[in-house]
Amino acid sequence: KQTFQRKPEWIRVKAPTSKGYNETRKLMRDLKLHTVCEEAACPNIGTCWQQKHATVMILGDTCTRACAFCNVKTGRPMAVDPLEPVRTAEACAAMGLKHIVITSVDRDDLEDGGAQQFVRVIEELRKRSPETTVEILTPDFRNKPGALERVIAAKPDVFNHNLETVPRLYTRIRPGARYYHSLKLLDTVKRIDPSIFTKSGIMVGLGEDKVEVATVMDDMRSADIDFITIGQYLQPTPRHAKLERFVTPEEFKTYERLARGKGFLMVSATPLTRSSYLAGDDFERLRAA
Ligand code: SF4
Ligand code: SF4
Repeated sequence: KQTFQRKPEWIRVKAPTSKGYNETRKLMRDLKLHTVCEEAACPNIGTCWQQKHATVMILGDTCTRACAFCNVKTGRPMAVDPLEPVRTAEACAAMGLKHIVITSVDRDDLEDGGAQQFVRVIEELRKRSPETTVEILTPDFRNKPGALERVIAAKPDVFNHNLETVPRLYTRIRPGARYYHSLKLLDTVKRIDPSIFTKSGIMVGLGEDKVEVATVMDDMRSADIDFITIGQYLQPTPRHAKLERFVTPEEFKTYERLARGKGFLMVSATPLTRSSYLAGDDFERLRAA
């Protein structure tokens, strides 16, 4: 029987209790929206929700894939909710967000992989909160002709799609996906619309080595990816992919320096970095520069 590794000092986070946390929680319940913060059991929920930063997960709470690292439930997904885009825009306006991150479960069951719902969400956000910058964190739209192009045409400010891990570990960690397909997706975004910032990230602690991480960075730069995130993998339950080790804060610093040296415009590499962690702050800094 596998036992959980004790979390090191630098990973422990306080239970979320703030007023901001409770307000965000209530708003999401009232508007019947799902968040990846809750579904993925994100350790930053206390910090982010206190600051009213949440990542809305559209297209339901049930995924057609079952990645070995992910806490989102798998099964037969719900019908697409035509009012979800409007409610998402309402949540964004109610929270007064300067930057919003929208993600979704994978919808391999839908003809367009859910692309149209991303487009509608972006449109509603633009109508309701024209000043808010929009970051989307999408599935890979594999085998869905034209889906990616439709989402690009909707002009999100940041197009984020995670590589999640090094290519050697894909069969174990991300069996439904292909490393080079994901890389090509981000390359395509940049080729079609160079004004969109592209972003990707990986988790570490899954058994990758430093040379493999450096190679992923090189691959990302050759696809012109602008922003990179690197965070510690945390095993949600004993059924999920095994946590091999906790990467130390010093090692994260080394990754950060390495990534900056390779020319990424924005780098976030800390144990608690998540794809959407403080995404707005980074974006603001970049625009101010
Ligand atoms: Fe989780 Fe995304 Fe994999 Fe679905 S596709 S199981 S939501 S990581
Ligand atoms: Fe939500 Fe992202 Fe913050 Fe985690 S890091 S709580 S997923 S916004």
